[in-house]
Parts: sequence; structure tokens; C-alpha cells
Amino acid sequence: MTNIPATYESSRDQFRATLASLSDRWTGSRLLSHSLADSSDLTIEVISAEATRQKQKLLILTTGLHGIEGYVGSGILQLFIEEYLPRLDHETTGLLLVHPINAYGMKHRTRVNKNSVDLNRNFEENFDSLKPLNSHYESLAHLLNPARPLQHPLYEKFSFTWNVLKALPKGARHIREAALMGQYRVHNGMYFGGFEPQEETKFIQNIFLNSTRDYKQVVLLDIHTGYGPRWQMTLVNPPSEKMTAKETATRFKVPLVAGVNPDEFYTIHGDMVEYFHNMITSKYPEKKMYAGAFEFGTYGESLLQGIHSLQTTALENCLRWFGGSDAARQWMEQEYNELFVPADPKWWQKAKADARQAFDGILSVEGYFRNISPT
Ligand SMILES: [Zn+2]
Repeated sequence: MTNIPATYESSRDQFRATLASLSDRWTGSRLLSHSLADSSDLTIEVISAEATRQKQKLLILTTGLHGIEGYVGSGILQLFIEEYLPRLDHETTGLLLVHPINAYGMKHRTRVNKNSVDLNRNFEENFDSLKPLNSHYESLAHLLNPARPLQHPLYEKFSFTWNVLKALPKGARHIREAALMGQYRVHNGMYFGGFEPQEETKFIQNIFLNSTRDYKQVVLLDIHTGYGPRWQMTLVNPPSEKMTAKETATRFKVPLVAGVNPDEFYTIHGDMVEYFHNMITSKYPEKKMYAGAFEFGTYGESLLQGIHSLQTTALENCLRWFGGSDAARQWMEQEYNELFVPADPKWWQKAKADARQAFDGILSVEGYFRNISPT
């Protein structure tokens, strides 16, 4: 019975405890605990379990790249451990499980790390060349980054709606791109990708590089919430994936797949899944790889729900930087939790069913399930 953990600490305890359930088969599996530089109580935890006979397949599951999304991520990781681990062959399959990449954000229930960086915009090499990107961002600053303390929720709702209406003549797509693409200039703005690679980014890059080297095949699945329809998980392919969304859906028998491009998703830079898919397929063209993100939708994807989600993201960022009234704080907490960790038990049931469908499809097609010989 897997649940969404209530706190960062309880989630971490649960993750640490799973090492014991692995080590009877994956002898030599170990837990690596990386304390963040300036807060030793926050750790990125990695369970690394090498194949015991021959390194053929590696499965990487990562959670909490967007801190607060790590709560659902942790629940899905537990589901995987309880239901899917027994079906893998420890002799030929290695595991790399990460909880959570953004420990600060998970602990403080926000998407970003302590520098207010969106880590899924931070997997880049040359940050100077990224500065000119998203040139419209500042022209929408009054909407995306009000840069003042938040007032009463009624006032904020009215003010946000007014600003959306003023910006709409530029086109919903224009607003969406400017908001979501990421930006590399305004350190206290939304979807800030950073001025340099973050500690968490460098740590994960290192781990991936070292752990993937010896395996012939890699599957990487990164768990997220907040994007897409509420009642159906979206499997998101990175831009460098050669299969189309339709081909992927057919291959893995999942109902909804999107590619990261302006038509199906949105243009982003510094995306972690893309970084590793690109790195492995170009550095080791002989390796077989599938990499994708599970996106569990929450608010929904209509235009109004999209505007609602933009409001929550912009105002949470504003509250973090500029503070606000108690009423605004309470309101934002509720809104933000619903955007990334919905409270409805029915939502969680459906999320688990969708995760099972995707694990079943991907792991069987990629040959990760062991053959149970007839007795
Ligand atoms: Zn996310």
C-alpha cells in the first residue's frame, strides 16, 4: 500500500529503508547520501545496485527534480519498489534510484532550489549563450513577476486576471512560451535557469556518467507533476528522441505521449532528460536508450486551468521573494499543494494506475522483466 509521504524526512526514511529490501538480491547495493553544501540536514540520496553477474541493463528512476513534485515522485518510487523490483533480474539489471534531486525544494515545498533555480532548466553547459533567450520575458514582467508583497487573495486574483486580459492580445501561445520556456537573466523571476550549473545538477551529472558507462542499455524515467490533463499521465519524450509521440504510444501501449516541442509541450532549455538522452546517445551510440518523464497532471489543461496554473506559479514565486499577508500565504500554500500534490485520494489512485500502465509497457518492451521459467 503506497502513499504520498507527508514530510521530506518521512519520505527519506522510507527511501533509506528500501535498501534492505534490495540487498538480498542485489548484493553490494549501497546508499549514497550527499549533503547539500550549506545545509547538512538536506541530502540527495541515491541507491545504487549493480547487476550481480553481467551488466546488461540499467534502470534509472529519478524524483524531485522540482522539489515539491518529489512527494508524488516518492510515492511512485515506492510503488515501483514494491511491485516491479521482484520482476527484474538482479543478475543482469542494475538500478539507480534517486530521492530527491532537489532536496531543498522538497523540504520547503517549492519547485526551485535554494538559489531559486528551476533545475530542469539548468542542465546546460554555456550559460552566457542562454542569456538572450526568451527575449519577451521582461515585457510580461507585470504578469509573471509582480515584484511586490502579495495582498489579499481577492485583490491578487483580480489583478492577475486583469494583467492576463491585457496580455492576451499578444496571444496565449506567446504568454505560455515566455512563461514556461525558462529564462537566464532575472534571478528572482519565474522559471529561472541559473547563471551557472547548480550543485544538484553537477552531482547528478557525475553519478549518471559513472553509473551508465558499463551497461549496454539504459532506461531513464524522471517523475513530475503539474503538467497535462488531470486524469491521465503524460509520458514526455525529450527533443532528441527519434520516435514520434504516436510511435511511442503504440510501442509502450500508453494512451498519452508528448514530445518536447512547441506543438506538443513547449520549448525548454536545460532539460535533464534531454541532457542525458543526448549525452548517452552521442557519447555511446552503441548503447540502447529510452529516456522520458512521467507527468501527472493536476489542475488540467484547458485555457482557464492553464491561466490558473500560471497564476499559482507566478504568485508563489512573488511570495517567496517579496512576502505577503497571512491570508495570501495560506491561500498560496493551498493552491501550490493542489498544483503539485493533489489531496484527492481518487487522483492518487488514478496516478498509480497510470504509473503501472507505463511501467508495464516500457519495462516489458525494453526487455527488463525476467523470464519466469515454467515450473
Ligand atoms: Zn516538474
